[in-house]
Amino acid sequence: MSRPGRHFLQIPGPTNVPDRVLRAMAAPVIDHRGPEFAVLGRAVLDGMRAIFQTRSHVIIYPSSGTGACEAALSNALSPGDRVVIMETGWFSHVAWRQVAERLGLVVDYVSGTWRRGASPDDLEAHLAPDRRHDVKAVVVVHNETSTGAASRLPDLRAVMNRLRHPALLIVDTVSSLASIDYRHDEWEVDVAVSGSQKGLMVPPGLGFNAVSEKALKVSLAKQTRSPSTYWDWHEMVRANATGYFPYTPATNLLYGLREAQTMLLDEGLPNVFRRHARHGEATRAAVRAWGLETVCEEPSEYSNVTTAVMMPEGHNADQLRRIILERFDMSLGTGLGKLAGKAFRIGHLGSFNDLMLAGTLSGVEMGLAAAGVPYRPGGVGAALAHLAQTD
Ligand code: PLP
Repeated sequence: MSRPGRHFLQIPGPTNVPDRVLRAMAAPVIDHRGPEFAVLGRAVLDGMRAIFQTRSHVIIYPSSGTGACEAALSNALSPGDRVVIMETGWFSHVAWRQVAERLGLVVDYVSGTWRRGASPDDLEAHLAPDRRHDVKAVVVVHNETSTGAASRLPDLRAVMNRLRHPALLIVDTVSSLASIDYRHDEWEVDVAVSGSQKGLMVPPGLGFNAVSEKALKVSLAKQTRSPSTYWDWHEMVRANATGYFPYTPATNLLYGLREAQTMLLDEGLPNVFRRHARHGEATRAAVRAWGLETVCEEPSEYSNVTTAVMMPEGHNADQLRRIILERFDMSLGTGLGKLAGKAFRIGHLGSFNDLMLAGTLSGVEMGLAAAGVPYRPGGVGAALAHLAQTD
C-alpha cells in the first residue's frame, strides 16, 4: 500500500538520510584502484579524523557497527586477554560482551542498572585491585542506544589515569559520533568504534575504528596476531596512506560519506552538538509533561540523541508503536532486551530539525491517546515552548 507524505523514521538509527547525501551516492562506480578513487579515499579519511577529533588513524570498513566492534577487539587484544566491559544496556551486551567472549577474551562484565551511564566509581573499584595490570582493555559504550544514557567519558578516563592503569580505553561511539560531543585525542581514547547510519546521516554499511598510536603499537606487538585479514588495521593503514583500501571498498557509500562530512563540518561540530542537545531537552520536556518517565534517571547522563520512555504499568510499548506506525506512518525504536515491551525509544538525531521534532512528538502524543495509555496532554506544547525559549 502506498502512503501519502513522508514516513517518519524516528528510530535511533538508521536515521533519515538527507537528499543531498542520497544524490551524492547516485553516481557511477569508479575504479577503486584508479587515481580518482585516491582523492575520494583521502577526503573521507581526513573528514573522519575531523569528526572523531583525532590526528591519529581512522579506518573505514564496509561493515555494520558490530563488525567495527569485532575489528577493535580482534586487533587490540588476543584470546585469553582480560577485558573490563561496563554494562550499560543491550549494546554493551550484544555488541561487546558477546563478541568479546566469542573471540576468546576473558570478560569482567561490571554490572549496571540500564538506567545510567557507566559509573566511574564502579570502574575504579574494579581496576584499583588490578596491580599486575592483567586487564588489557576497558570497554565503554558512549551513548547506550537501548536506554538513552550517555557515559561521562572524561570522568572514566580520569579514573584510569589516576590509577596509572595502562589498559586501552575502547569506546563505542556508534550512536554518539557527530551528534554528542566526542573528542578522541583530548579524552585519550585508544580505540573508538562507530557506524555510518546514525549521526553521520549515511545509510547503514560503513564501520569505523579511530585508533591511537598506542593501540596500533599494542596490536603490532601482540603475541597472537589477529587471524583476521579482513579486519587487520595494519593492512588498512598501509593502503590508506595513498588513499586506497586493501580490498574493494563501498565506493558509493563513501560518496555519501563525503557529502555528509561536508554538511556536518559546514554546520560546525559545536553547532551540531548544540542542535542535538536542544532537541534532547525539548523531547524530555514533552515526556515530563506527559507524566511519563525516561529510562535514564541521571540528568547529567541524559542522551541528546535518543530518549527511551517507560510505559505505565499494564501498557505495552510495542502495541503503542504498532498503532503509531499504522495510524501516523512513524517508526519508533522498540525496547531491547529486558526493556522489551516496557519502553519505547524516540530517535532525535542525524538530519533533524525543529519541525521534524514537532511532528515526531505530535505522533507520539496522538499515539498515546489512540492506544489508551494514561498520559497528560501538553507534551508537544512543552517541547515547543523549550524550542521557542532556546531559539
Ligand atoms: N553499539 C551501539 C551503541 C549501537 O547503537 C549499535 C546499533 O544500533 C551497535 C553497537 C551495533 O551496530 P550495528 O547494528 O550497525 O551492527
